[in-house]
Amino acid sequence: MEKLECDYLIVGSGAVGMAFADVIIEESDATIVIVDRYAKPGGHWNVAYPFVTLHQPSQFYGVSSKELSNGRIDQVGLNKGLSELASGAEVSAYFDDVMRHQFLPSGRVEYYPMCNYTGDKRFESMTSGKQYEVTVHEKIVDATYLNTTVPSTHTPNFDIGAGIDFVPLNDLTKVVTTPSCYVVIGGGKTGIDACLWLLEQGVEPKDIQWIVSRDAWLLDRRNTQPTPEYFSKSMGAQAAQFEALAQAESISDLFSKLESSGVLLRIDPSITPSMFHGATISPLELEALRRLKNIVRMGRVQSIDVKEGITLDTGTVPHKEGALYVDCSASAITNLDIKPVFAGDMITPQTVRAYQPVFSAAFIAHIEVLYQAEEKKNELCKVVPLPNHDTDWLKMMAAQMMNQFTWSQEKDLRKWLYNNRLDGFSKLLADTDRTNEENMAIIKRMKNNAMPAVMKLQQLIDSIEA
Ligand SMILES: Cc1cc2nc3c(=O)[nH]c(=O)nc-3n(C[C@H](O)[C@H](O)[C@H](O)COP(=O)(O)OP(=O)(O)OC[C@H]3O[C@@H](n4cnc5c(N)ncnc54)[C@H](O)[C@@H]3O)c2cc1C
Repeated sequence: MEKLECDYLIVGSGAVGMAFADVIIEESDATIVIVDRYAKPGGHWNVAYPFVTLHQPSQFYGVSSKELSNGRIDQVGLNKGLSELASGAEVSAYFDDVMRHQFLPSGRVEYYPMCNYTGDKRFESMTSGKQYEVTVHEKIVDATYLNTTVPSTHTPNFDIGAGIDFVPLNDLTKVVTTPSCYVVIGGGKTGIDACLWLLEQGVEPKDIQWIVSRDAWLLDRRNTQPTPEYFSKSMGAQAAQFEALAQAESISDLFSKLESSGVLLRIDPSITPSMFHGATISPLELEALRRLKNIVRMGRVQSIDVKEGITLDTGTVPHKEGALYVDCSASAITNLDIKPVFAGDMITPQTVRAYQPVFSAAFIAHIEVLYQAEEKKNELCKVVPLPNHDTDWLKMMAAQMMNQFTWSQEKDLRKWLYNNRLDGFSKLLADTDRTNEENMAIIKRMKNNAMPAVMKLQQLIDSIEA
C-alpha cells in the first residue's frame, strides 16, 4: 500500500472535479490528489458520441482559469449565428491541456488516472494493481455524484431480441450499409442529437422513427448567449421569466406564458410536455426536428423483437426489416438526490445554479476557500435541484433565485461572480451600456418583477404539493 498525502482528495476528473480543482489551485496553496477511472481527464466527454457538442456556448464552460471558446460565432450548420459549441473532442483536449499544462506543472497536483476509488481514502490502479492510501488534511471531494451516464456506458433497461440491429449512439457513425430506417430511442437531448445528425447526413425524415416516451420543454439557445448582441434575448428571457411568474394564474397559465414569451419551446405545439431537463435548442434545430412525422408516443420501450415488434408501455409498433435501432435512452445526469454540499470532511459538488454543474463546482471551491463555518458555506451553496418533470422548473427557479439573492448580499461574491468566466451573465448585466434604453427597460422589468415572481413561485409550488 503506497501512502500519499494531500489537502484535497478529488475523486473524479470530469468537468466538475476539474473546475473544483482549478479554483483551489488558483485561490489557495493547497495540495491536491485527483483520482479517476479513465485514462484522461474530462470524464464522460472522453466516451461521448463522435458528433457530440456542448449544448451551451463554450464561453462559460470548462475551468475558470482558461478560455475554452475562441469567441467565434458559428457560420454554418444548425447553430448558425450563435456562439460556438465545443465538440466532445475539443472538450476532452481542453481538459487534458489544463491537466498537463496547468495543474501538474503547479507542483501541487498529483493525478492518478486509471484508478478506481474504493472509499475510505483508498484507491487502486486498474493497470498496475498498485494500492494507495491517502492522508487527507482538508477534504474529500466526491466529483462523481451527478453520475452522468452516456449511451456508450449505459445498459438499456429493455429486452432486445435476436436479429435486432441495435447500437449505442456512439456507433451510429460506423454505419456502412444503409438501413431500411433508423429507430431513435429516446426523446432527450441525445435523441435530439441523433435525429439532427441523421437529418444533416441527408436521411429523409420518413426514414427516421423517433420513440419519445415523454415530450420535453426546451430552452431557446438564443437566450443563453452571453454576448452584448444577444442582451435583449438572454436578459429579455430572464425578465420574461419573472413576468410570467408574477402574472401566472396557474401552472398551465405559467407554462403558456413561458412559451409565448419565448423562454420555453416544444417540438410539437399540440403535445403538452411533461419533461424538463434544461436542454437547449436553436431555431434551426427546432425547424429540422419538426420535419419528423413518424414519432411514437406510447411510453417507454419494454422490448424489441423481430416478430413481436417494438413493445412499449401502451402499445406495439411493427419491426421493419433492416431497421437500425439507435439507443439514446441514457439519461445524462441520473442522480437527482440532494445532499448537503459541505458535510464534515466531505464536499459533494452539486448544482448551485440551474443547468450549470461546472460553474457550480468552481463556485463551491471558492466558498470552500473563502469561508470557514460549515453552516455559512451550506447557506451559500444551497442545491438547485436538477429538473426532471415539467413542474420541477418551479422548484429549480425558486432555489436559483434564492441563491442569487443570497450571493448578491456578499460584496466579495459579487466581485468573484463578475470576474469569473463560468458566470456567463453577471458581467453582461453589470457592463450594460446605461444609455441603451432598450436594455435598461429590460433591467427595469427584471427588477420590478423579481419580488412578485418569488412570491408567486411559492404559491404555485404549494399548489403542486397540495
Ligand atoms: C451530451 C451531453 C452534453 C452536455 N452538455 C452540457 C453543457 O453544454 N453544459 C453543461 O453545463 N453541462 C452539460 N452536460 C452535463 C454534463 O454532465 C456536465 O457538464 C459535466 O460534464 C458533468 O461532469 P461530471 O464531472 O459531474 O461527470 P463525469 O464527466 O461523468 O465525470 C465523473 C468522473 O468520475 C470518475 N469516477 C466515477 N466513479 C469513480 C471511482 N469510483 N473511482 C475513480 N473515478 C471515478 C469517472 O471516471 C468520470 O471521469 C452535458 C452532458 C451530456 C451527456
